[in-house]
Amino acid sequence: MKTRTAQDIWEAALGELQVQVSRSNYRTWFKGTAGYSYRNGEFSVSVPNAFVAEYLEKNQRSLIEKTLIGHTEETVRVCFRVNGRSGSPKTDDGGGSGIDRPNLNTGYVFDNFVEGNNNRLALAAALAVAANPGQVYNPLFICGGVGLGKTHLLHAIGHAAQGRGIPVVSATAEQFTNDYITAIRERNTPEFRARYRNASVLLIDDVQFINGKQQTEEGFFHIFNELHTAGRQVVLTSDRPPQDMPRLTERLRSRFEWGLIADINQPDYDTRLAILQAKTRLKEANVSVDTLEYIASQIKRNIRELEGCLNRVIAYAKLLRTPPTTDIAARAMENLAARPPRESYTPEALVAAVARALGMSPEDITGPGRAKEVVTGRRLAMYMLRQETGYTLAQIGTLLGGRDAAAVTNATKRVEEELETSPFLQRKAKEIIKYL
Ligand code: ADP
Ligand code: MG
Repeated sequence: MKTRTAQDIWEAALGELQVQVSRSNYRTWFKGTAGYSYRNGEFSVSVPNAFVAEYLEKNQRSLIEKTLIGHTEETVRVCFRVNGRSGSPKTDDGGGSGIDRPNLNTGYVFDNFVEGNNNRLALAAALAVAANPGQVYNPLFICGGVGLGKTHLLHAIGHAAQGRGIPVVSATAEQFTNDYITAIRERNTPEFRARYRNASVLLIDDVQFINGKQQTEEGFFHIFNELHTAGRQVVLTSDRPPQDMPRLTERLRSRFEWGLIADINQPDYDTRLAILQAKTRLKEANVSVDTLEYIASQIKRNIRELEGCLNRVIAYAKLLRTPPTTDIAARAMENLAARPPRESYTPEALVAAVARALGMSPEDITGPGRAKEVVTGRRLAMYMLRQETGYTLAQIGTLLGGRDAAAVTNATKRVEEELETSPFLQRKAKEIIKYL
């Protein structure tokens, strides 16, 4: 336990808090928080803004402190810091803002990052940049959906550089913007620029945030150019590629495209399972492969969610004092009640949409036919039913002409794999969604 970082402890505590407060409560107040530091019985939690800090302080402090005890094995005083900054800087911190001492998430290192089909290029590029900052891809632009590991890779580069004594400056685009606006207001832009110019490696997270904020773009553009010209490394992340940021001025967009754009996609089943195994090891938890497989088969789109789910399952098992079995996992996930839209599609509507997309009749899909296209359609229908409804494997099998559960599992796995590689299937899947 002693070697665990504040972030590790906080993540474990979040797993339990998720079970103890309502889902909307959790989403509103706990999302975006991070374990900042843990020293001398004081646990600092970094929160996104003052409003959240105040709410948690007033309403959740004692629950949080109680929950933390289970992980720190001592009573702790919790305090909340906006973006890792507190009103009264702690002397043992070395002082300063997140800029001077980059606020890198301690767990986000290369060693903890699982390579998969979805992130191979981005990981290779990040490693290359970390090994030779400013020399290979500049800038490196990492893009991908929410919770797929962009910040993890960004901070991993930061840790690697910092470990070799290279000055790193790290900020979210939002922090950058706030700093910039403050600097302008206080007529202090030279100092602002000097601060960022000190970087041999500049990491800016979530640059989609500055899309359309003209004044910030301007500031960013100059700093980017200065650093780039001086051969410093710039790494950016975004939830979308530069060409999908319509309000970005052309010259900034073209700067973003100078280096390498590496995207991260949704992880396939094997990658999800490998990530769950790695996280389980990190947490020193004991979760059976069955249970991990179950979680990996249920949560597909977002690794943060995958991890949250694992935390929840572990916390649930702990509360119920049983091992984390598949059963417990199912119960923990039921509680997520995450699927209001799912119940809104009837199986008939789904089968009809699949049939329409593939130019066949619903009876083809539910019937006994073995023609290649029909089999493809049936598989796709099984996959969609699995994704979009609460039906069990057996129920889906029955609906689609009396197939057994194993056939449905095989079909859905196969579609899942093919969806990664087959443009035809990807197009059809999009059409189906459109028809629903
Ligand atoms: P993003 O910035 O893309 O929204 P994050 O980098 O914050 O996502 O990742 C979300 C969570 O998923 C983090 O806890 C991160 O450690 C984890 N994660 C994402 N990808 C991987 C991976 N390939 N291996 C291990 N953990 C991962
Ligand atoms: Mg991120």
